[in-house]
Amino acid sequence: MNCVFCQIMEGKIESKSVYEDDNFKAFWDISPQAPVHLLIVPKEHLEPAQGFQDSDVELLGRMFLVAEKVAREQGVFDKGIRLILNIGHDAGQEVPHLHLHLLGGRKLGRLVAE
Ligand code: AMP
Repeated sequence: MNCVFCQIMEGKIESKSVYEDDNFKAFWDISPQAPVHLLIVPKEHLEPAQGFQDSDVELLGRMFLVAEKVAREQGVFDKGIRLILNIGHDAGQEVPHLHLHLLGGRKLGRLVAE
């Protein structure tokens, strides 16, 4: 599949990985917006813009547990983090494959910049 995150999962595109288990990989965003800017990405290709299913609930919940674990490992959880899930055009979603942005390591600004 011509999906950049699927290609990262398959090792066809390099990433700076910080975490991996059977269902998820977490790696540095290529264009970081904070001292810590990681992407928590399910290995399975889900597209949030298509809507979620009941069968996605376990994976969606686990994605937040992975985000917390990674944030703690990066030493940013206690001071505060922001998790962002962009869905669709108006949110500026660039990569259709489900991913959670984990931002931390500095005081983050307004929730919506513009
Ligand atoms: P979104 O706008 O929520 O779809 O965010 C997609 C994110 O993926 C952006 O923050 C990009 O900087 C990031 N990104 C795109 N390609 C790569 C890549 N090859 N490795 C790491 N991050 C990437």
